[in-house]
Amino acid sequence: VRRGKWIYSVTALVLCAAMLGGCQGKQAHVLWRSAAEETTAAPAETAQAPTQVQERSDDGLEYAIFPMTYLNITQTSHEGTHLCNWAIDLAGADTGIDEFYAPFTLRIVRLQEGYNLVWAQSVNRVHLASGALDYVTLLLEHSDDISSLRVGQVIRQGDVFYSEGTAGNADGNHVHCEFAIGPYVDEGSYHAEDDRVAINNGTPANEILFLTESTIRAKDGDGGFTWQTLPDTTEHIIRNGWHCTGEGHTLQEVQTVSEPTCTACGFRRYTCAVCGLTVTELLAARGHAKVELSRTEPDGDRNGIVCYGCRRCSAKWLETLWSKTPECAFDDVAADDPWRSYIADVAARGLMHGVSDTSFSPEGYLTRVQLLAILRRLSGNTSQYTCDYSDVGSDDPNRSLIGWATENGLAAATSEDKFTPNVAVTRENAISMVLRFTALTGGDLSPAETSDSASFAVSAGLFGAEDNLHCALTRREGAKLLSVLMTLTELHQ
Ligand SMILES: [Zn+2]
Ligand SMILES: [Zn+2]
Ligand SMILES: [Zn+2]
Repeated sequence: VRRGKWIYSVTALVLCAAMLGGCQGKQAHVLWRSAAEETTAAPAETAQAPTQVQERSDDGLEYAIFPMTYLNITQTSHEGTHLCNWAIDLAGADTGIDEFYAPFTLRIVRLQEGYNLVWAQSVNRVHLASGALDYVTLLLEHSDDISSLRVGQVIRQGDVFYSEGTAGNADGNHVHCEFAIGPYVDEGSYHAEDDRVAINNGTPANEILFLTESTIRAKDGDGGFTWQTLPDTTEHIIRNGWHCTGEGHTLQEVQTVSEPTCTACGFRRYTCAVCGLTVTELLAARGHAKVELSRTEPDGDRNGIVCYGCRRCSAKWLETLWSKTPECAFDDVAADDPWRSYIADVAARGLMHGVSDTSFSPEGYLTRVQLLAILRRLSGNTSQYTCDYSDVGSDDPNRSLIGWATENGLAAATSEDKFTPNVAVTRENAISMVLRFTALTGGDLSPAETSDSASFAVSAGLFGAEDNLHCALTRREGAKLLSVLMTLTELHQ
């Protein structure tokens, strides 16, 4: 990644893979807080308008900012080659190759050479021009060089990571970009009615991005959109975040839109009396009211299991009781990482190895073929199989493995005649592979529910009901999945 001209303040974003799917209830997204602690009721009549005295603080979440110096849309959405999508072509100053910086801190989730496509997703929720607070996914095309980008790479807001180009026979240097509200789902894109690739859940760019005071607006370059502008320069916003008066917004409550539940965040929308922006405040999920339902103590080398339930809702989930504390030798797995024991467990079992002696790359992804290889080793099956996919050649070393997985129903083609073996496995596909593997080998995963991927994900304590199972499975999540598989299987032996 080339370093842009911006200077960064590190807003210490804690990048926790589990946060991809929903807020975890740990972080209070405080936009405005009364100086007096916690009023329980909302005495609307007597409350002062929150203009003075009150302590105001920012929620620390980024505002999605326009990712180029020039706003110059040369082909807007729903015209020409964008007839069936919300794409815009950004051509910058038209004086060479303009740079494209991250509109918010994002993670690269997929790359495709040729057109040099990049799919990326914000690592956290971001404030959108529509007033919403949500994840954003984006799709870019035409940069001449994406060799410095890697899947899993995190790019901070303001870092230059893409630029105008003509890769894929583009007509003049530009960046073709598409934005979507929500996390990266289902391989990122689909074939629209005109058969062009379009991002899933595409959204008009002006509902996502804010221009800033320093955005230079080319004549007739606004794409026919009405853009919102943050009253500060891009450089200053990247360095300091957007804080309205410097202390935060002066919020006037519009309405309570949604109350939080055990697992889902609620939110309130306000208008700021100073800058006029619509601001969304997330209300953290309440978390479950945990009660212990049953317990199987560890026995010798065999791990135990404790089953918890919630007093408020019907949720039930399992936690491992370790027979011994597994030693974790990886420098990149923090001592308080909630996945640490699972990572140590699968390493000790020889199921997953570090990417080196000292690092595990917990935020990296597990590919489809990597997970299948682990399951195949566990199965003990060494027979030769074959398969018929256009992207698995006759000399592909994984051909027999993929044939075994296909024949036994563990995995299938991802599109038409392709298996995409080296693509990150989604959480849902990973769980379904494990469930089918267990059925194949006659294993028993009770007391976890095994009727479908989502039930298993929640009941086995892998993911919360709010987590999106279409997200790619990280290596730390894969470690937990495999560790839980082993613990549950061994319980019945
Ligand atoms: Zn385009
Ligand atoms: Zn404001
Ligand atoms: Zn609950």
